[in-house]
Amino acid sequence: MAHAIEPATSGRAKCRGCGKPIPKGELRLGERLPNPFAEEGEMTLWFHLDCGAYKRPQALLEGLETSEAQVESAPELEARARQGLEHPRLPRVDGVERSPTGRAACRHCRETIPKASWRIRLVFFEEGRFVPSGFIHVACAQAYLGSADLIARLKHFSKDLEEDELAALARDLQAPLGD
Ligand SMILES: [Zn+2]
Ligand SMILES: [Zn+2]
Repeated sequence: MAHAIEPATSGRAKCRGCGKPIPKGELRLGERLPNPFAEEGEMTLWFHLDCGAYKRPQALLEGLETSEAQVESAPELEARARQGLEHPRLPRVDGVERSPTGRAACRHCRETIPKASWRIRLVFFEEGRFVPSGFIHVACAQAYLGSADLIARLKHFSKDLEEDELAALARDLQAPLGD
């Protein structure tokens, strides 16, 4: 079956992109994948449309194409998804947080990320699930991800960010470290 966009039939399914429930009746993306745990059969991963556009751009675009559902935000979703196809590492972004320790090394420059400084969380999509896959410095985003146009994405996956924090992140994103 093709990927589909359809109203959620219950409020129980959780979005694979952000872990939060998808309210009943809200349009959601269903990504169909071969079931990795069985010889045959399919499984469906559900996403909020925004989360799908950020994290599963190809499935979202296919869903928009094949679904009859009227998707009001289709132009924005499509633009977001195309950005992810253009820069294939962007969908790995899972949010931003202050580093709780000084032990993690940046996946891009291999330098450690100082305690309490910002780090971008990465996840890799493997066999139907997102696997935590380390961190990068905010200032390494342009070099690692191919784009520093990230504020909306970070805000989406890290909803607690305050305005002044977003402003600081925007500055850091524009100030790549030299190598
Ligand atoms: Zn979500
Ligand atoms: Zn780095």
